[in-house]
Order: sequence, then structure tokens, then C-alpha cells
Amino acid sequence: MEALGLFQTWLSRQENRILDVLYPPACIECGVGGFWCCDSCFESIDFDIETPMVDGIDCVHVIGSYANPVLRKLLTSYKYRSASCLRPILRLLVERWKREVGVSIDGDWTILTTPTDEQHILERGYDHTVYLAEIVRDLLLPHARIVSAFHRNRKTEANASLHESELRIGNIKGSIELIEPVHGLVFLIDDVLTSGATMGECARVLRRSGVERIEGLAFALGR
Ligand SMILES: [Zn+2]
Repeated sequence: MEALGLFQTWLSRQENRILDVLYPPACIECGVGGFWCCDSCFESIDFDIETPMVDGIDCVHVIGSYANPVLRKLLTSYKYRSASCLRPILRLLVERWKREVGVSIDGDWTILTTPTDEQHILERGYDHTVYLAEIVRDLLLPHARIVSAFHRNRKTEANASLHESELRIGNIKGSIELIEPVHGLVFLIDDVLTSGATMGECARVLRRSGVERIEGLAFALGR
């Protein structure tokens, strides 16, 4: 039964990819033809967002707000609908953010992605945060290596469904472990930062491993 479910998910993903080819693109937000995200909608994503604090993270970078409908659709379509056609747009977005905000980071960094549920990776066929990490490496940290060193040792409820921050932290605490040692400078990547509980728990585990400095980057702030 589980195998059948996975096959159906795989099939629908292939269909989506075929649809990408068969149908001409239309803007994910306004529907105008010819682009997956038209210039006007793309420009509507602003970077005017207050940097949040996350326990254990030395510096958090956030690109935009999850309340922005275009950024939200870019991230959800990419994550849940396997819309690989949106990858170049996410790359352009990071390029624009880097240029307009004036982001420049030096040092010998290791990039880690926050852990994605393994069942979700199986269902979607890829780990969407790894691609986001590749964009960040190419544009911000060209000499960094990307490591998938986190493992979720138990299933946790989606954080967005929990309301109290204490519940979120209690929900996630002890659920993440490192499967290989990591040292030095670590750059943590996540798609959406909500309570910060997942990133904070990653930081706690990394500090125990002896990591010196941790910076985090989320594509959207969902608070
Ligand atoms: Zn548009």
C-alpha cells in the first residue's frame, strides 16, 4: 500500500514535469503568460524585514516575508509541487537580495541544511533544501561544501501547527542528531523560519560538536 502511494506520488511528479514542457509558462501569482514569475510580481518581493533572533545562532539572514504572496507561492510550489521550473527564479531572487541588501560573507564555511523528513524526501524524490543550499553556495559562499549531516531520529509535528513557542521547542528537542562530526564555521539553510525551534535545535547539536560560529539563512520569515 505504501509502495503504491509512493508510485502515485512519483507519477504525479512526472506528470508535473511533463506539464512544465507541454504548457507555456504562466506567472504563479498573476497568471500573465510567458513567465513563471513576471517582472512585476518578482519585484514585489521586498527585503524590508527585521532580522529575527534564534537561540544559538550568531547571525540570522532572512530574504523576505512568508506573508508576501509571491515568495510564499515560489517556495510552496517548489517544495510541494516539484516545480523545478522555479529554480532559476529562486536563484535570481538570491542574486537580487545579495545585491540590494549588500550581503558579503567571508570565511571557510560548511553549509548544512536543516533536516527534512525522510518520508517527504522519498515522496518528492529530492530534498528541496539541498537545492536552496546550492544556490546559497554558488552566490554567497563559493568555496563552501554542502553536508547533509543532520538526521531526524523521530517524527515531529509540523511546527506551523503548534501555537505556543514552548510546545514547538518541546516538540523538537532531542529529535535531531549529527551523523558525522562538523567543526569550524557553519552556515545553516532553511526554507521558512517560523518559531526558529528547528534552527535552534540544530545549533544546540552543532555547539555540542564543537562548532565555533553558526549563521543561518532562511528564504522566508513566517512569524
Ligand atoms: Zn505576475
